[in-house]
This record gives sequence, structure tokens and C-alpha cells, in this order.
Amino acid sequence: MKQKTIIIANWKMNFEPNIEAGLAEKFVSGLTRLANDVEIVLCPSHVGLHQVNQFIKKSNLVLGAQNMSWVRQGAFTGEISAEMLDDVGAKYCIIGHSDRRIKLGETDKMVNQKVLCALVDDVLPIICVGETYNERSEGKKEIVVQRQLEAALKNVSGQKPIVITYEPVWAISPGGPAMPDDIQPMIELIYQSLIDYFPLELVEENFRIIYGGSVDGSNVSGFLELDKVSGALVGAASLSYDKFKTIIEQAKKNTC
Ligand code: PEP
Repeated sequence: MKQKTIIIANWKMNFEPNIEAGLAEKFVSGLTRLANDVEIVLCPSHVGLHQVNQFIKKSNLVLGAQNMSWVRQGAFTGEISAEMLDDVGAKYCIIGHSDRRIKLGETDKMVNQKVLCALVDDVLPIICVGETYNERSEGKKEIVVQRQLEAALKNVSGQKPIVITYEPVWAISPGGPAMPDDIQPMIELIYQSLIDYFPLELVEENFRIIYGGSVDGSNVSGFLELDKVSGALVGAASLSYDKFKTIIEQAKKNTC
């Protein structure tokens, strides 16, 4: 997997659009140089996408969304389609985040439907998989991650870029982080599953596997040094310009 390292900021439901736009402006002016080597994706709230894009579109940073609908169009009050995200400038969308699976009952089937809708409408999926603390304690982490991955990728051709995030739920702040020794076998499992589902050339060309869960400037290098880890999904530490910049600087060092 020789694609660019990708670092994704997931701002969740933390800021109003004008604050998100202010942060995006700061990120654009401070991180543009580093974004030549590291793909930097900012995922604001849906209502912040347009404002944030006003700054991002003039830069080499990239816009992403945090969620999208499992259907393409129609009477689905309150839903946001992949086509709408594409229209507002989002290149990526996070799909299947554990916040949504656990707190909103998002199923494996919905995750798959979202992935298929995203790919049809030119939005690249960032698919999250990962076990809970209980599933891990019960020795089920491999079964859970394989089930989520297989379901998410059903009927996917593998012809377009996809990011798979291994994000153990117990490692998300304030819980984590996971230790590199915990993560490496799971990354290997995800990679082996991908090459079971798709031809090796497609996996190498179109898939990146990344880690998420309490990533910060002090631990990101340890994750990026792991075999087949091509980036990180960052929540809490992406809410601060200084903390996020440190992560990007460390990620750039890893590319050298
Ligand atoms: C997340 O929830 O996607 C995440 C990465 O959060 P944090 O970095 O805060 O653990």
C-alpha cells in the first residue's frame, strides 16, 4: 500500500459552523505546505460543510462529511444524500462510525447501503470498523471486525478508493489509545480479508487501512510505523489547531 498517508479530522458535533470555518481557515493557512505530503481531510458538521469549503476549496486540504443517507433520494426527512455531499464539495464521507452504530442503531446493512450510495455519487467512503470493550473481552474482536467489513463491502467492486478505519470502540478518547501490539494483528486481519474479497492489485491501488482512537501528537508515529497502516482518524485532538498540527508534522516525518 504505497498511497499517500491520510489524516482525517472528525470534528463530530462540537462546534457551530462559524467556529468550524474559523478553524478551517487556520488549518488551511498553517497546514497547506504539509498537505503536499500528507492528505489532510477535515470533516465538519453537515451545516458547516459549505462554510468550511469556502476556505478548503482554495487549498490542497480536502473536505469530508461525517455521515450520509443510506438511500440516494426521496422522502427521507432530515437525511443528506451522497449527491448533496458531492455538490457541497465533500470528497469523502465517514460511514459506520461507532457513534452511529451504537447510539443510533446503524446496522451493517445500512453501512453497506451507504457505501454503495457514496460510490455511485462520487463520494469516497471512510468505513469504520471496530469492536467494543465487551466484544474484545469475550474474545470476539476478530469475528466482529470481519463481519462488519464483509457486510460493508458487499457488492463493492473495489474500483474506487476506499479507506478502512480500524477504530476499536474502547480506544476512542477518553478510553484509549490501543497499543500498537493490539492494532497490528487487526490491521493484518483487515488486509487479509481485503485480499480475499478483491484482486491484490485493486487492494494495493484503491484501499488504505488506517487507525482511529485517541490519536495525538505523541503516539501517531507509533501507529503510522505499523505495517500497512496508512493514516489516522482523529477526533478530540483535531479540535485544536496546535494538537492537530503536531499530528500532521509527525505524519509528514513518517513519509520521509
Ligand atoms: C473518533 O471517534 O473517530 C475518534 C477518532 O475519536 P478520538 O480521536 O477522540 O478518540
